[in-house]
Amino acid sequence: MTTQGQVRLENVAKYHGQVAALKNVELDIRPGEFFALLGPSGSGKSTTLRLLAGLDKPTRGRILFDGADVTAKGAQDRDVAMVFQSYALYPHMTVAQNISFPLEMEKTPKAEIAGRVQEAARKVRIEHLLDRRPGQLSGGQQQRCALARAIVRRSGLFLLDEPLSNLDAKLRLETRTELKRLQRSLGVTTVYVTHDQEEALTLADRMAVFMDGEIRQIGSPAEVFARPNSIEVAAFIGSPPMNLMKATLTDGVPSIDGRPLDVKPVSGSREVIVGVRPSAVRIGGDGIRATVDLVENLGDNAILDLSYEGGTARARVDDAADYAEGQTVAMSFDAKNIHLFDAASGRRLEVQ
Ligand code: ADP
Repeated sequence: MTTQGQVRLENVAKYHGQVAALKNVELDIRPGEFFALLGPSGSGKSTTLRLLAGLDKPTRGRILFDGADVTAKGAQDRDVAMVFQSYALYPHMTVAQNISFPLEMEKTPKAEIAGRVQEAARKVRIEHLLDRRPGQLSGGQQQRCALARAIVRRSGLFLLDEPLSNLDAKLRLETRTELKRLQRSLGVTTVYVTHDQEEALTLADRMAVFMDGEIRQIGSPAEVFARPNSIEVAAFIGSPPMNLMKATLTDGVPSIDGRPLDVKPVSGSREVIVGVRPSAVRIGGDGIRATVDLVENLGDNAILDLSYEGGTARARVDDAADYAEGQTVAMSFDAKNIHLFDAASGRRLEVQ
């Protein structure tokens, strides 16, 4: 049976003794979607993937593929293909044998296997390496071999656990682009675990941000980036991270170091956190007085480390040469680029 590729987790929890690896996760993944599970180490991403694969059973809740309850089914009875960080290739087998292995297990007719292995190898561009053993391949080629082994089954769901993390930086970027192209052309629902926010932002159609065994936010990368719903999510998405500055809300208007900010008022008076991405900090003119502690030249642009009376912040500027360490500058923010969070709860406050 081939699936359409719709995946649903209903109120899923996973405990290891007293340890909650996952608490009450609700998730709907649409057919054909590239869906990232993003979060720091230990937040429950791999646990979720293992539950989807059928390698583990949830302590509570249900898992549905295309509306059918698969919670009790083992890995071999689910229409899924998994690629691990380690690739898990068989070292004594050739690339062709590694790729054909799942088909042999499924007792696919011999006559069909060779053609399907060729086709899978071609899709990931390793058809010239079929006679080699994994030890004779580069890291990137091993990764493609693992992908081909997943593709060859024509599964309805791909599960990828940090598949790029063993590659060096340059190869990781190239492979990322290729993975996106491959997933688009195959159209297979793909669940992708990563702790790397940039990877999730560039690859995913939608993503779920995991923290402490919970999903904190679900949305497209653009949505989560533009409207993080909590301080924790805001701090996790974006590089360099969003500036989070203590501010006081008085009759709906926040101020930093006694300077009111130019935002449409929210309600009330309390402690708030003002979030501004480094790229949205304006330097010059009228604003909060700050000292340049460090100028980090990135070539195309530069990052300024700033300190002001109430704390520190970072700003992305066009040209490192325009700034000197020790210089006093003024920083300000456009109303449309300001995120407001309640300091006590960490929740986003809506700025209209
Ligand atoms: P991630 O993939 O986001 O790094 P995991 O899903 O692997 O996180 O783990 C989530 C939490 O569950 C972690 O705190 C981890 O230590 C715990 N955990 C995972 N597997 C086990 C296990 N077999 N026994 C005990 N605790 C576990």
